[in-house]
Amino acid sequence: MTRPIPKLAGVCGWPIHHSLSPILHSYWLKEMGITGAYVPFAVDPKNALEAFVSLKHTSISGVNVTLPLKSAAFSAADVATEEAQKLGVANCLYKSRGQLVAHNTDMEGFAAPLIAKLGASRVQSSSALVIGAGGASRAVLGALLSLGVPEICLINRTDAKAEDLVGQVNVPSFYALPWAQRQEAVARADLIVNASAAGMSGKPELDVSLENGRPGGVVYDLIYTPRMTRLMRRAQKSGMDIIGGLDMLIAQARPSFKLFFGHMPPLDLDPSDTLLSALKTGRR
Ligand code: NAP
Repeated sequence: MTRPIPKLAGVCGWPIHHSLSPILHSYWLKEMGITGAYVPFAVDPKNALEAFVSLKHTSISGVNVTLPLKSAAFSAADVATEEAQKLGVANCLYKSRGQLVAHNTDMEGFAAPLIAKLGASRVQSSSALVIGAGGASRAVLGALLSLGVPEICLINRTDAKAEDLVGQVNVPSFYALPWAQRQEAVARADLIVNASAAGMSGKPELDVSLENGRPGGVVYDLIYTPRMTRLMRRAQKSGMDIIGGLDMLIAQARPSFKLFFGHMPPLDLDPSDTLLSALKTGRR
């Protein structure tokens, strides 16, 4: 009997030692009985283009890409999927018919837990408030626009960045409000997404109150350290539904795993506990 050839994939970043991706993918490899490995690759941004192009000449199935290499990964590819083109950055590179393909799973990773919690029709009748205008916010906005959310308000601590993002998209239902009007924005929203870095362990808390939030609304916090952020606790106290960043982290990894190893991890194989214990112990 022939043995299956082990498949190799990994994650590239600089630095990369903190990445949870090897824990996540190794969990699925083990639980699904797949012969393969998923390892971290430290890639100096100075050599990133060459490193990515050389992937075509290796037996590596593909790689995830994290900060600060997502633009380089996009540029190194021969072709880009629609998702990667929408965001202009790639978090995943894989090979297809001898070509290097740039893909981005962040929009799918954001959307999947939202649809699982609310259902597509509730999402499509919600007015959304997105807080933050960095890289994560672009994926959130791309997903909300693709899902047909009828009203999207963007606020950011630095107003000019929110205005700039809105200007790039030019869709009438998508607008920015000044940071000074953030409580007005909260009062109007059915869905509030924290796509800023505020509230992460070791960073300042988000200076946005939920006191005038809509009863029955939803708060989706992209932060996953801590798992239950102060914003999420306040949302629960106000009777709002919550979705945490760990769900997005897992949901954006599932399609990458399928591209690299050929099988979609079943939803009931939940790596949350393994990830939380790695976060607690600092073990990678
Ligand atoms: P980024 O590009 O550096 O952007 C950071 C954003 O946070 C900016 O809009 C910044 O506002 C805002 N910000 C920082 N400190 C703030 C504060 N004290 N109050 C209000 N706003 C503040 O980072 P990113 O890549 O977008 O990531 C943002 C967060 O999302 C990170 O915490 C990251 O861990 C998380 N994330 C989670 C997932 C997941 O899978 N769950 C995926 C991606 C990202 P200014 O423009 O004013 O500086």
